[in-house]
This record gives sequence, C-alpha cells and structure tokens, in this order.
Amino acid sequence: MNYDYIIIGAGVIGSSTAYHLKRLNPNFNILIIENNHRAGFGNTAKSAALFRNLFSSKTSRKLAISSIKFYYTIAEKIKLHKSGYLWLFSEKQWRANESIIKNLDKENLEIDIYNQEEIQKYLKINFNSNDKFPDILNGIFCKNCGSLSAVALAEYYANSFIKLGGKIIFNKEIKSFKLSGEKVLYAPWDEIKINYLIDNTGEKYYSKNFVFATGAWTNTLLSSIGIASSVYPKKRQLFGLKIKDSSNIFNKKDENYPAIILPAGGVYIKPVLKNNTIIVGCADDLGQPYYLSDFNANPEYFNKAIKPVLSYYFPSLKNYELYLQWAGYYAYHWPDKNPVIENVSNITWVSGTSGSGIMKADAIGRITATKLLDYEYAELADKSKFKVSDLSLYERKVDLEKFII
Ligand SMILES: Cc1cc2nc3c(=O)[nH]c(=O)nc-3n(C[C@H](O)[C@H](O)[C@H](O)COP(=O)(O)OP(=O)(O)OC[C@H]3O[C@@H](n4cnc5c(N)ncnc54)[C@H](O)[C@@H]3O)c2cc1C
Repeated sequence: MNYDYIIIGAGVIGSSTAYHLKRLNPNFNILIIENNHRAGFGNTAKSAALFRNLFSSKTSRKLAISSIKFYYTIAEKIKLHKSGYLWLFSEKQWRANESIIKNLDKENLEIDIYNQEEIQKYLKINFNSNDKFPDILNGIFCKNCGSLSAVALAEYYANSFIKLGGKIIFNKEIKSFKLSGEKVLYAPWDEIKINYLIDNTGEKYYSKNFVFATGAWTNTLLSSIGIASSVYPKKRQLFGLKIKDSSNIFNKKDENYPAIILPAGGVYIKPVLKNNTIIVGCADDLGQPYYLSDFNANPEYFNKAIKPVLSYYFPSLKNYELYLQWAGYYAYHWPDKNPVIENVSNITWVSGTSGSGIMKADAIGRITATKLLDYEYAELADKSKFKVSDLSLYERKVDLEKFII
C-alpha cells in the first residue's frame, strides 16, 4: 500500500491530526504507526491531564480556549471534570505579570482575581515569605478549567479516525527512514524526500507524505536525517500522596477542589479527593537536562524539590504517604513554549506542545491537518480562524508563553 499520509505516533496529537485530516478529506489513505499497544500510551498517558484557558500568550489562549470548547461537547466520553484552577502569585510575580493580568478578558475566560481572604476560604495556606520561598499575594481562579482523561481523549480521536476508514498499526517502532535514491551522500541539488519507513520487524511502509507526531522523540528521530526540529525533551515527574485528612490543606469539605499552582519552584497540586489523593508535580528549569533518558520517577526528587515547598505553604500537611510516582517528558519549543508545526520536503512534524498538549490537542490537530492540505487558515472548534504559518519555524508569529508549569 502506498499511503497518502503516514502519521508516526498515536499520542493525543497524532490521533487528533489523523482524525481532522480524514474528516477534511475522507478519500485520503492514512495510516498511523504507533510503538505502544494503545493510543495515548506515550507521554499523553503520563500527563496530569489538567486543562486551563489561563495563559499569558494569545496564541496559547486561542489554542486552549477552542480545544476546551470542543472537549465540553464530548465531556462524558473523556471524563471531563470542571473543577477549576487556582494560580497563586507572590507579590513580585504579580507585579511582573500585572499588565498581562489586567488585559485578560476576565468575563469571557470566566476568571476571578482572589485576594488572601478569598484564597483562605479554599486553602489552609501560609501566605508569608521566608528566605527561600516567596509570599502569596493574590490568586487567579479559573472556573472553566479542570481535568480529563488524556488517554480517553487520544482514544476518542483514534476511534473517530478509524470510524472514518483510517488505519492504525500498534506495537511497531519506526527504526529508520529511507530517503530517495538511498544514497550515502546527497548533492545539494538532489531532491531529497522520505521514500519509506522501516519498523523494528523490518517491515517497510510507503507513503507520499510522512507526519512525525512523535512528541518528545521528535528531535532524536528527525536529527538523524538532517532536520533540526527545534523541539527538546525535558523530564517531568509526578507523585501521588495519600492524604489522611484533606482538611490539612483544604478549608471546605468538597470533592471538587481546583488544581493549585504554588508560587515556588513551579510546584502544582491536582486534588483527587475521592481517592484521598493529591498528585503533585514540579516544573523546574535549569539543572534538568534537555534530553531523553529513563522514565523512572525518583522519590529523592520529591523529597528535595517538592516536599519542602508543600511543607512550607501547608504546615498542617504532615500525615501522608507517597504511594504513586511516574515520569514522562515534555516536548518543549524553546524559547516561546508554543507548539511547532513545520514541513520540509514530504516530511511534516508537529510537536513542541511544551506541557500543554492535552488542553490544546484539538486545535493543534486541526491546524496540522490544514497545513497538510496546504490551506492558509485553519478553522478551530469555536469557529475562529488560525493562520497555519504562525506555528511554523520559518514564519513563526507567536508571543512568549510565561504561564508554564
Ligand atoms: C508529567 C507530565 C505532566 C503533564 N501534564 C499536562 C497537563 O496537565 N495538561 C496538558 O495539557 N499537558 C500536560 N502534559 C503534556 C502532555 O502530556 C503532552 O503535551 C502531550 O501528551 C503530547 O502529546 P503527543 O501526542 O505530542 O506526544 P505523545 O503522547 O508522547 O505521543 C507520541 C507518540 O509517538 C510514539 N512514537 C515515538 N517514536 C516512535 C517511533 N519511532 N515509532 C512509532 N511510534 C513512535 C510514542 O510511542 C507516542 O505514543 C504533561 C506531560 C508530562 C510528562
């Protein structure tokens, strides 16, 4: 079979792209090849699966708002839980972001500014600073945010793609790509494209076009054929704490607590109180390398990078058991932390989701599909238009994302 498109990777981005491409042109023969046994079992499954519309960059907001709008229409299928987001700022952080915060369309985004008194209604928290950790001045509460099942979302797209006649092959890892002419050396005037892929069993896959929706693996794969993807993997770890008494953190008896972002070290909390659990993570920067290594979470990392922050802001939180831990990789596009959708020859790559690929997957899939069809503007789920080239590398037009965790 010579396909029109082969998409490598059935994460949330590859699955969304495949579905939207097939939806826009049902006549295309499209194949997804995935290393895992199910859609979304790469870094998609490793995510905290939180979604929010609160971003500093207009590009991020557009991608997230339209995607979230679509997710509400399939809420039950993807176990969407509207529990909110409470982003806490120190005085210094607040002042640094004041102009961005002032210009947020609070009504449309459904966000409220909380002072200490309002924060205290939710949280039993220490507002003061010490020599290590900053104070807490204000919070932004986003109502229209929450969590969902990231694997269910990837599978929703993968199944919708199959229903339209698309094909997925699981448990196959693409090991190499054969370029046109299969030469050892190429002259600058040679027309170079991928002719076919070879998987771990030696099977060959032919297609006119190849789409790398390979998340954190994108740079390793593409650099081998001379493409600098501009996407870099960074390890992220999450830890599940069984808490004996939620009133040590939360001031109301409620199972619907928002995700909390603390002002120190990028530490965040996803409450799953029906399981007496909080999931905690940390978005560190310098000191954490930009390359793929192992997928093991390290309890020492929890003890050194997360526990001190939790203990400081929640002094009553003492009785808990660390019972769950896992690690995955963000695919960062540095420095603007927005996705990259670029094309060279018959090769397109879509990655650089920078820790917010779940909440933006619908828009990213639509824009990638539109790029593959060579149209200038994509129509997003909220009917707004998005200029496809804005996410390219050559004609990139995005503003820096600062609200990254
Ligand atoms: C700890 C953590 C927390 C996160 N929290 C959130 C969050 O709360 N909200 C949010 O929106 N985002 C979050 N993210 C980011 C989110 O997980 C990613 O943005 C998203 O999953 C990216 O999707 P993807 O399809 O690009 O990548 P992936 O899901 O990794 O998909 C890529 C796929 O390509 C496949 N593949 C790679 N190489 C090959 C090959 N050679 N052959 C065949 N298949 C191949 C892989 O198996 C994989 O399935 C988090 C990420 C991590 C690690």
